[in-house]
Amino acid sequence: MPRLSEVIAALETLWPAERAESWDAVGTVAGDPGQDVRRVLFAVDPVRDVVDEAVKLGVDLLVTHHPLYLRGTTTVSAGTFKGRVVHTLIKNDIALHVAHTNADTADPGVSDALAGALDLRVVRPLVPDPTDPAGRRGLGRVCELDHPVTVRELAARAAERLPATAQGIRVAGDPEAAVRTVAVSGGSGDSLFDQVRAAGVDAFLTADLRHHPASEAVAQTPLALLDAAHWATEWPWCELAAAQLDEISDRHGWDLRVHVSTTVTDPWTAHAASATALPPGATGASSHAPGAPN
Ligand SMILES: [Zn+2]
Repeated sequence: MPRLSEVIAALETLWPAERAESWDAVGTVAGDPGQDVRRVLFAVDPVRDVVDEAVKLGVDLLVTHHPLYLRGTTTVSAGTFKGRVVHTLIKNDIALHVAHTNADTADPGVSDALAGALDLRVVRPLVPDPTDPAGRRGLGRVCELDHPVTVRELAARAAERLPATAQGIRVAGDPEAAVRTVAVSGGSGDSLFDQVRAAGVDAFLTADLRHHPASEAVAQTPLALLDAAHWATEWPWCELAAAQLDEISDRHGWDLRVHVSTTVTDPWTAHAASATALPPGATGASSHAPGAPN
C-alpha cells in the first residue's frame, strides 16, 4: 500500500504544481506524508457534502479541482465553512490535494475531458502554453466535429452527456446555425472571447458567461455560445483523472480503489423556464417577444 507522499508524487507528474497560475493555490492542503493510502476520491469542490461523501466511502485522499483556500486565512475554526472542512478531513485521516489551473492546462486536462464527454475531436489548445514544445498543453481546446450539427443539437448533446444541473445549457446565437468547429473551456470562460474569435470557431462551450461579454461576442461574429453550469463542465475531469490514477496504481501494483464523486456541488437547485418560450432564432429584442410592450 503506497504512502501519501508516493501518491502525491505520482499526481505531481500529471499536474506539476509549478504549471499552476501564480495566483492559484494548488498542492497538498491536508494530510500526513507518511499515512497509507488505499482509497482515493476525485471531486470538483472541497465542500462539506463532498467531504461527507469521502468519510462515508472511507477514503484516505480526496483530490479536488478547486482550491479550499485560494487566499490566506487566519483561522481554521470549525465555526467557519472551510474550517469545518479542515476539521472533518483531519479527524477522519483524509488528506486533501488540489490540482486546479495545473490540471486545466495539462495534456490531457480539464477541457480534454469536457471535449471527450461530447465526442469532440481535439485539434489544439485554445491558448497554447508557450513552454510546451509539443503545443499540446494550454487553456481550453479547439475541436472539430466529424459530422456537423446545429447549435441546438450540440446543446442537446451537452445537456445529455454532462451531469444534470438545474441550469441545463443556455444558448446564445442562432440555434439552427451549423457547427463544424467548437472551442471548449471547462469552468469560467468569458475571459477567452478574444482567443475564441481568433480561432474562428462556430461555437464556444464554457460556463459562467455574463451578459455584456456574451452579447458583445454574438453581436460581433456569427459565434454561438453554449453556457453550462461551471461544475458540470469540470466534472468530466474527475473521471479522466481517476482513470489516470488507476493506470498509475496498476503500474506500481498499488491496488488503489479510486472513486469519482457523485455529489452535485453546482449551487443552483432549480430553474423556472419562462411561461412562453421564445420562437427559434428570436433575439429577445423583437416587438413580438413575450413581455415586450406592444
Ligand atoms: Zn472551476
